[in-house]
Parts: sequence; C-alpha cells; structure tokens
Amino acid sequence: IDGREVTAPEGATIWQAAKAAGIDIPVLCHDERYDPVGVCRMCVVDVGTPAFAASCVRACENGMQVKTSTPEVERSREMLTKLLISDQPPRERDPKQATTGDNELLALAERFGVNHSDASLPVGSGRGADLSSPVIAVDHDACILCDRCVRACDDIQGNDVIGRSGKGYSTHIAFDLSDPMGASTCVSCGECVAACPTGALTNKPIHNIPIRPRTELDAVDTVCPYCGVGCALTYYVDRDKGAIAYAEGREQPGSQGRLCVKGRYGWDYAASPQRLTVPLIRREDSYPKGALSADVIGDMAGANADAGSNDHGMTNDGDPKQKRKGGKPGGLVDYAEVLPHFREATWEEALDLIARRLTEVYAEGGPAAIAGFGSAKCSNEEAYLFQKLIRTGFHTNNVDHCTRLCHASSVAALFEGIGSGAVSTTFGDIKNSGVAIVTGSNSTANHPVASTFFKQARRNGTTVIYVDPRADKMADHADIYCQLKPGTDVAFYNGVMHEVIRLGLTDDEYIATRTSNFEALKRTVADYPPERAEQITGVPADTITRVARAWGEASGGIIFWGMGISQHTTGTDNARCLIALCAITGNVGKPGAGLHPLRGQNNVQGASDMGLVPMFYPDYQKSDDPGVKARFETAWGSEDLDPKKGLTVTEIIGSALKGGVRGMYMLGENPFLSDPNINKVRKALAKLDFLVVQDIFLTETAEFADVILPASSYMEKDGTYTNTDRRVQLGRKVLDTPGQARVDWEVVQDIANRIGLDWRYESARQIFEEMVSVIPSYKNLSYDNLGLTGKLYPNPDPEHSDGTV
Ligand code: SF4
Repeated sequence: IDGREVTAPEGATIWQAAKAAGIDIPVLCHDERYDPVGVCRMCVVDVGTPAFAASCVRACENGMQVKTSTPEVERSREMLTKLLISDQPPRERDPKQATTGDNELLALAERFGVNHSDASLPVGSGRGADLSSPVIAVDHDACILCDRCVRACDDIQGNDVIGRSGKGYSTHIAFDLSDPMGASTCVSCGECVAACPTGALTNKPIHNIPIRPRTELDAVDTVCPYCGVGCALTYYVDRDKGAIAYAEGREQPGSQGRLCVKGRYGWDYAASPQRLTVPLIRREDSYPKGALSADVIGDMAGANADAGSNDHGMTNDGDPKQKRKGGKPGGLVDYAEVLPHFREATWEEALDLIARRLTEVYAEGGPAAIAGFGSAKCSNEEAYLFQKLIRTGFHTNNVDHCTRLCHASSVAALFEGIGSGAVSTTFGDIKNSGVAIVTGSNSTANHPVASTFFKQARRNGTTVIYVDPRADKMADHADIYCQLKPGTDVAFYNGVMHEVIRLGLTDDEYIATRTSNFEALKRTVADYPPERAEQITGVPADTITRVARAWGEASGGIIFWGMGISQHTTGTDNARCLIALCAITGNVGKPGAGLHPLRGQNNVQGASDMGLVPMFYPDYQKSDDPGVKARFETAWGSEDLDPKKGLTVTEIIGSALKGGVRGMYMLGENPFLSDPNINKVRKALAKLDFLVVQDIFLTETAEFADVILPASSYMEKDGTYTNTDRRVQLGRKVLDTPGQARVDWEVVQDIANRIGLDWRYESARQIFEEMVSVIPSYKNLSYDNLGLTGKLYPNPDPEHSDGTV
C-alpha cells in the first residue's frame, strides 16, 4: 500500500489493512461498527484496474499494489465532495434543528477546499424536514443516503425502523411505512444520530438552549446513571449555560459505544426546577406526623390498586405547581401541599438536630431502634460509608436497600448453588453462545443496550429462547417463545431438565467433577415429563422438548433473567432451577456460558458488594460470623459491632409498625413507592419517632420526615459504580449541585462526626482505597487503574487487563 509492504489477515479489506498500517483513507458511508456497503465511493483507491476500487469492501489480495492518494484518486474524491455539497442545505437554516458540529461531509469539504457557494447545481434536494420526534431532528435535504443510520438501527440496535422510500432524486430515508419519525416505532435510542455523517439526523436541544459546536463544549467522560448495564458515555457540557448540551456513547468493552433513550436523552432531571436545594425541618404545628399530600393520604383501596402506576402526573416542563390527577402514588408529590409543613434551615441546624434525635432514639431503644435504607443509585463510596455509619455509629446491622425487592432471591440461590451472588459471565458473552435463554425479563425496555447484544447475537446464529408470560418485544426477537402461565417457572424448567436428561444431553463429566446431588435432582424432575409440565405451565409439551434440545445440543448457553423470575414467592426456587439447568449441561465457566441475573439499578451490584445489606458486611462476609465481626471491628476501629443479622427492608417496616425501629435515616430510598404494601408503609413511617430523608426530590416518604436534606444527583459528584457485569467504573462530576444541595458522602460523614465517630475522608478516592482494603473481590482496583472503561472484578492484573476472562 502506497509503496509499503503490508501483511493483512485473510479476508481483511484494503481499508482495514491501510488503517492498521497507519494510512488514512477518507470514508462517508463506512463505519467500522457496521457491515461495509461501499455506496459512497469516497474511499476509492487505485488497485491498477480500469475502475477505482471501494477500499471498504474490496478484500486484500496477495501481491496487490494499492495507491490510496494519487492525484486522480484525490480528484475523484474532490468531485464527489463537490457533488454532495451542492445538494446540501445551508447550515443553520432552521434554528429548531441543532447541529453538534460533527459533520464529516463538511470536514471533507474543508479538506478539499470545497465551498457551498462553488456548487453548480441547485441547492438542496427539496425533500424537507421531519421534526416530529421529541429528541431527534431529521433534515432529509442533508441526507446523502449512505445508509449508516439504517445499519445502525438494524445491525446495532436491532430496532429495524429505518429504511428507504421513494425513487430517483426523491429517494429518502423512511421510518416504518414512511411515517413521521415521532409517529413511528422509533424508540429514540439516537443510534442513528450517532451514525449520521452529514447532520441529516441531529439531536434536538433538550433544555431549549441551542446546541453549540462540540469544540465549544466541555467533554466529561462518565457512565449512564440509569440501569445496571452501565453504558459508558460522554456528556458535552455548555459551561456558559451551566447545562448539559447532549450525551454521546463512549467506547467500553461492555456497551461498545451504544446508548438507549434514557442514557442519550434522559439526563435533564438533574436540572429540574423541582430539585430540593435547601435543608428543611418539619414545623412544630405539623405534628403529629402523617401523610401531607392528597396523593399520599389517598384511600387504602385506591393506593393498592394504583401501586403499579407510572403516571407521574407531571407536565413535561416539570412545573411544580402542576397538580396531579386522581390521587395516585408514583412519582413526585404535590410540592404545594407538602412544603408549607416544613421550614428552611441551615445545614448546621439540620445536622445537629439529626445527630441529637438519632442519638436520643438510640439511647432509649438501643441498636434495634435504629435502621437505615441506602440507595442502589448512589456510588459505591456512598453505599460503603452509609452502611459503616449505621453499623459503627448505632451498632446495628439494620441496613438494607432495594436489592431486597429485586434480586435478593437470585443472590440467595446463586450463593447456595455456585458460591457467589454475582453474574458468572458478561452480557456481551452471548456472542459466543450457541443458545441463550432470556426469562422473566423485559430486556428491550429495562436493559435496552444489553438487549441489543441479544438481538445481534441471534442475527449471527445464536438461538434465543424467550420465556415469559408477557409477549413483549423480546418475543419478536426469539427463535422459541414460551408463554408460560404466571408463577409456573419451576414446573417449566423441571420439564426442560427432564427432557435434557431423557435425551442424554447432560454433561456427565461436568456433573461428576463439579456438581453434587445430581441424583436427587434427577429424581425430582423425573416427575415432570413435558406433558405434565404442559398441564401446569400451558407451554406445549413439544415446545418444552424443543427448548431442551436447543439448550442441550448447543456448544454453550447463557441464561439471562430479571424480576419475572426473582419477584415471586418462589423466586429463590425459580433461580435454583436456572442454576441447575446450567450445571447439568456444564454451562458455567466457559466462553458463551453462564448465569446472568440482569441487575436493575445502575449500582445495585455495587451497593450489595459494599455491604448495604443486613446479613453481609462488605464483600458478602456474613454479619453473624464472629470471625468476620472481629475483622471489621479491627478494620474500622470499632467496638461492639452487632453480632447478629439485621432486619431487611420489609422487616424494618414491620418492626417500625410495632414500635421496634423508631429512628430511620433514608438516603435516596423511597419505600412508599417501592414497598409491596403501601398502607403498611404509610402507618409505619407515621409512627417513627424520627425520620431523616436525604434525596434530590420531595418524595412520598419525605412527607413523613422530620428533616429533609437536599442531596446531590449522579451528575454532581465523583464516585465508582459497579454494573451488572461486575464492571467497576468511574462516574465523574458533570455539574455543580444546585442551591445548598451537598454531595452525599460528605453529609453522611458530617452526621457520623456529630454522633461521635471520627471520620476524616477528604475524597471519594480515599473512601475507595479503604473499601478495597476490606473487599477482597475488589483487590488491585484503584482510581488510577480503572481508567476510562472500568475493570471487571475479580481482577488479578488490572494494570494489563480489564478482567474479562
Ligand atoms: Fe443507560 Fe441502561 Fe440505557 Fe445503557 S442501557 S444507556 S446504562 S439506561
């Protein structure tokens, strides 16, 4: 290539070989993440044939002579650029259409010295604009039909929304059956915007602030704050406006630059006018305590009936004066009804009051009278300090968080079955699987980016089996869909295991060397021939046999599961079945195989690792083990740690109802919304002697507080977060806290010091270092070696590997 001898792997394209050799060949339609199509001709090179070859599709040949930038080749690219530019609309012609300034076509125009005014053809193709999507602007005139958006939508996100319509000069990209984008099945993941090289697809401004060019914005590399997938992203921040302008996916081995609608467009909550910005103390005349807003007062029947509602009742502009209809719990309370019951206070006054009252409750009722709820949305450092405060400050293990209500059953079964509560493989490992079962998981909605890997794996040959009572979108992407009756999971998997054993599809060596109690399992599932399983589950017997064959005959299989498995009275048994199915077929501990409970919140894995649970100290060290207790007493310089397990979330509410737990500290948790029994929570919270709520919004739970502290959102602090794959990543501060709101770990430390603990942490980094010293699984990890992409734990060599085996 260009006179240099280059060796390329078989099948490599000229473009790939040139890139590996450090030779830049310009492209427009090509992006390494998509299959090459060779339609734009910008990457043509001279290979000695009469016509130039498109280097993105032309494979290398032995002895081939390639010239990438002869005068003729450059002239061809310049002419192509001129023709494309001549069709482009003038930039910034419509202020509603933002451009981020990443226009690869304009960059080429600059390179070849082509001006828009040089164009000899009429300006613009006249195909018009589509502004129907709330977050994406489409300028058809700027489209060069490179199909990058089509491939991004199909090949990367697996949404299959974008195609082409029209003929000749009127050909344009089309959504579904040429519907307006906003009326189509588009899920607004924004992958098309990330793919577009010309600004035909652009982000609309979320804050009604025009988006300035990227070069004028501050880039902060961090992680999405929403779900357990933990996608890496970059926020582009307009420092003059003090606001995020837009978000972009960032390369990381798990998420590979992808985002979903939440990560790409759902970050405006941090700038909501409803943020709490000043400490609040309940007014004397607002005692005795009770619910304050109509929504929370509710009526018992109504409250239960609406417990699953997601009607937040807010206007899109977040107007706090806007009243909700129907008295439904779910979302923010009516500020106008609640705030008059509180008065503003200084931090000093609020923190002094908290320390005094919690100490008094503790003095009167002992350790059993205190409990704390932490948050799976806070950082590892905050979770660690919070549980340490409750354990060392109040000598109780009554500390828990929302993991209790999601995957606690999975963790119990995994501990029992394989000795670890974490996933045994990554979601991306599905690309190595012959078969995958996705069960009890609405993954396209709840773990959207993980689901893109499931869809992509299926396109590449992995058999996907979807097991769920609801035929949601994953069912469309499955080879076999089993619509079982709710609550019949155990019978279904017993039926599958019955068939795996009957068909001789077990891995006998694996069973003999790595498992126990196989004979007992065999006897149990002997009672579940597919016909009986069909009677119980409603899934046809031959489908159960098909599932068993697909699973048992594949080279490797992964099971992904969600709340549809764990949130049952038989949740632990459900997970046991999945573990057994993997174990009898040797599907743990090799590529493309394993168990993956998909974690919900962005840091539920990390919060659990940090010991924000009543039965475990950090790293799942049992809280009722005297040796563990002694170790933590030494590590923390504390005496009299609680020798017994603490109460769980639901047990704490039950205890408060009976006057056992009387003082509570809630950091970023809202049991009024998340607990299964709202009426019980309402009574329990009203009965507490003292409740402090630290949050970013006024929640239902805060109505029962004595003190409300304004917390920091994810955007406003540094810290680490551990995703569903066990990837520990750095979240970096993007914005300042609003008003008097403060960083949460600093508030926890201030309370700790006021109750007599002597804490002197100066940074999240310092807390992380202490955490790692008591969490063997995180050994060798440090703020310095986490880098931009994070590391999986356990990781014996984080300086040289991200931990993926
Ligand atoms: Fe954020 Fe989860 Fe969406 Fe990734 S999949 S962008 S982590 S919400």
